[in-house]
Amino acid sequence: MPTPIIADYTLLPRLAAERRAEFEAMREAIEFDGALNDDALDALVESLAAPIIAVVDCTQCANCCRSLDVCLVPDDIPRLASALLIAPDDVMTRYADRERGAAQEEWAVVPEHPCPFLGGTLCTIYADRPHACRLYPQFTPDFRYNLEDTIEGASTCPIIYNVLVALAERVEPLPYDEGDES
Ligand code: SF4
Ligand code: SF4
Repeated sequence: MPTPIIADYTLLPRLAAERRAEFEAMREAIEFDGALNDDALDALVESLAAPIIAVVDCTQCANCCRSLDVCLVPDDIPRLASALLIAPDDVMTRYADRERGAAQEEWAVVPEHPCPFLGGTLCTIYADRPHACRLYPQFTPDFRYNLEDTIEGASTCPIIYNVLVALAERVEPLPYDEGDES
């Protein structure tokens, strides 16, 4: 029977820590599993994610908006300016930290937590939210090559956590090698 879906983000730090070794074993197995090619793996992950996304209500969660840096790209600036009724230069001054962005190999980030555009558990600029917010949580393409970062996200995002749990139930761990302990 599949593991029940967890929607309560407050449980995630503990649950993700408990599953960490299992997720890492799955990552190793996926990295070395030549039978499951990149496209097939992406398709599998998307098929597992769809019913989870349908059940987890982001409007009741907002944990990503509360706890993660929001990455910005240049195209976000005029859209934010229009949504906030301020000049693009003011968006840059007030909401775009280029230095902190560069440290993360991003163009800029919003330097506040929670995100200043969060109202309760809702985005107050939803129609004009940054590009990164539209994509999160992004599993594909290239799930295999981003799995390390995805595992890090399991303690923040219920969707990520549940997708990894569902995937771990389908991926055979690598055979145990006694030489690993040496
Ligand atoms: S802009 Fe909106 S969606 Fe993006 S982090 Fe802020 S509140 Fe969340
Ligand atoms: S994307 Fe994840 S962390 Fe963000 S609101 Fe939805 S379930 Fe919560």
